[in-house]
Amino acid sequence: MREDPHDPLAAFLAGLGLVDHHVHGALRRQVPRERFESMLTEAPSGPSVGTVFDSQVGFAIRTWCAPLLDLPRHATADVYWARRCELGEDEVNQRLLRATGTAVYLLETGYLGDAVLDPPAHAAAAAARVREVVRLEAVAEALLAESGSADRFASEYPARLAERAAGAVGTKTILAYRHGFDLAPERPGTDAVTRAAGTELARAGGGTPRITDPTLLSYLRWCGVDLGLPLQVHCGYGDPDLSLHRANPLLLTDWLRLVEPTGVPVMLLHNYPFHREAGYLAQVFDNVYFDVGLGVNYAGAASRSIIAESLELGPFHKQVFSSDAWGPAELHLLGSLLWRRGVASVIGAWVDADEWSLADAQRVLRLIASENAERVYRLS
Ligand SMILES: [Zn+2]
Repeated sequence: MREDPHDPLAAFLAGLGLVDHHVHGALRRQVPRERFESMLTEAPSGPSVGTVFDSQVGFAIRTWCAPLLDLPRHATADVYWARRCELGEDEVNQRLLRATGTAVYLLETGYLGDAVLDPPAHAAAAAARVREVVRLEAVAEALLAESGSADRFASEYPARLAERAAGAVGTKTILAYRHGFDLAPERPGTDAVTRAAGTELARAGGGTPRITDPTLLSYLRWCGVDLGLPLQVHCGYGDPDLSLHRANPLLLTDWLRLVEPTGVPVMLLHNYPFHREAGYLAQVFDNVYFDVGLGVNYAGAASRSIIAESLELGPFHKQVFSSDAWGPAELHLLGSLLWRRGVASVIGAWVDADEWSLADAQRVLRLIASENAERVYRLS
């Protein structure tokens, strides 16, 4: 890492403010250690063998977060955990969030909202601005539960979405979790949507539906396009609700062909291990953008190669910074810190070899750190 304060690229990166274009709230309150460890992976619970601290993300926490909690680098997991409990969640959140150098968080609020800070509370803890991103499926499920009507769903959903997204800067779909990208790319007809809504309501048996019907999911993503706000699409790595091979963004190709003429930005999230595929899609489709959040946090000291691969085909105007942190503020901190270290190492080597000028490096870093997101989400 270029930590020499006289190194112009290191000094530039240290002062570079971020827009985290896809992220969730920090933990609202302290949780038991086992629950905390399970939040550091995409596994649904902690491992039966060993500890999550024995992984790249665990080592990265002990290296980079420990000093922010007044501990030496590489403090043991037990020492780290004890200090974390002693300080309490509010103090840990403030210290770690404020060390990220993030000016604006685009917070997606659709996942286990009770466990994490809501937008105003996250903004206060981080001393940063927060804008909201609305999850298409959550709005649809609330509407179906409230109305109980399949007949009115197709006509009521666009208005409900517009109302719910009135102050938001984007929408998000979790189609990858609920079905996968292998579904018909065309917009479904109203009759088919009504039938699908009826099926979901019947399956829910009076409770809140969990939409998995491909016709209905397809309708939601088209309503997201119609709304016109940037549409975030979870791609790649995630918890075992999804089948990874069906979350490859290349499976979106036919749908992207149909969406491209609308000009609505499609933001491919995370993508790991398909970040090279995402870079390709961002090159060939004018409205496609991508990030490598999530994978970077979890890969810790090995995240440099993910960042290097993201800078292969992906045009520099089509990449956006994200941490995709949810819960422990360690993940918010690592998303920022590991990205800064990764680009310093990868781009710094190109500057040293005079393959890139320093001025070009700084310009591209500003684009990815904040300017692309500010432009696409119209933040200013
Ligand atoms: Zn996310």
